[in-house]
Amino acid sequence: MGQQQETVALVAGGAGFIGSNLTDALLARGWRVLCLDNFLTGRYDNLRHLEREPRFDILDADVTEPLPPRLTRSGRRISYIFNLACAASPPHYQANPEHTLLTNVLGTWRLLGLAQAHGARFLQASTSEVYGDPETHPQRESYWGHVNPTGPRACYDEGKRAAETLTFDFLRAQRGDVRVARIFNTYGPRMRADDGRVVSNAITQALSGDDITLYGGGEQTRSFCYVDDMVDGLMRLMLHEDPYRGAINLGNPEEITVQNLAARVLRLTGARSGVTFRPLPIDDPRRRRPDISVAEKVLGWRPRVSLDTGLKRTIAHFSGVAREAAMIPLKRRGSVKPPA
Ligand code: UDP
Repeated sequence: MGQQQETVALVAGGAGFIGSNLTDALLARGWRVLCLDNFLTGRYDNLRHLEREPRFDILDADVTEPLPPRLTRSGRRISYIFNLACAASPPHYQANPEHTLLTNVLGTWRLLGLAQAHGARFLQASTSEVYGDPETHPQRESYWGHVNPTGPRACYDEGKRAAETLTFDFLRAQRGDVRVARIFNTYGPRMRADDGRVVSNAITQALSGDDITLYGGGEQTRSFCYVDDMVDGLMRLMLHEDPYRGAINLGNPEEITVQNLAARVLRLTGARSGVTFRPLPIDDPRRRRPDISVAEKVLGWRPRVSLDTGLKRTIAHFSGVAREAAMIPLKRRGSVKPPA
């Protein structure tokens, strides 16, 4: 029957911001999707619209623990594993640094083992943080990075670097097929309002009439990629058959200061808020912009959504969330039941 040919993807971190948007794209391709999430930063609300979707399942599990037996002895073969499991916002990943490091190291190791057991292709969601506070600009994949291994960001940066190492060792040992995306700052609908990132902070502050907080002098730069572009890049990376064997940067090369971002948010929301300056966090990278020539060449990918368009959609999302949040209490971790 057709059912036997169904493509099954596992999305670890599927209840998160990028993971849930990716899940929607995979389901739209006609695939079956298993979402694995510990709901620490992922939210059931991101998946509520899939409650009646027969091709979608949720497993409430933490990748630092042995994987649920249902995954390892499932009759259904998983063809693709996307590993997006990890808190990605500095305040969230620093809240429990040991867990962050282990999520990246143990979690990636367990999911690679699962990939081997199923003969699944494995995509590791890595990060621009592997470049740390970069000494070269823009950042190319060939740059080895400038990371403080003992600072407060190290649990994430070094965890993601170790996860890349595990992934490429797995490839060298010919245990399976892997892909590594180095994801640069991504924003869009389904970011958490309390994510702590500059985009979500600035929008929620502007919408509630509060001052926008800028860390340091606001002169540091980032390059912001809209989530639909990122999901497209991740899909292309997973599906391409080119023999390219390195990590690939995915991000939008349009670079701006965070001060400029704040000004845009004020203009697009029409808010009359001001700007308040706060101390710059330790090891905060000064500049970041991806060189995406490899992604362009190998995947035929480049971002399409302009910053203003993406910000408008994100502002609309946060305006809606504010209205909904007033009516529906958020579902908490523990109230999410994996399907029987
Ligand atoms: N930032 C800021 N105000 C905020 C949150 C962040 O000025 O309310 C700064 C932060 O110090 C960093 C930049 O904005 O220089 C991007 O921070 P974010 O947490 O969004 O991403 P990441 O540091 O992971 O690139």
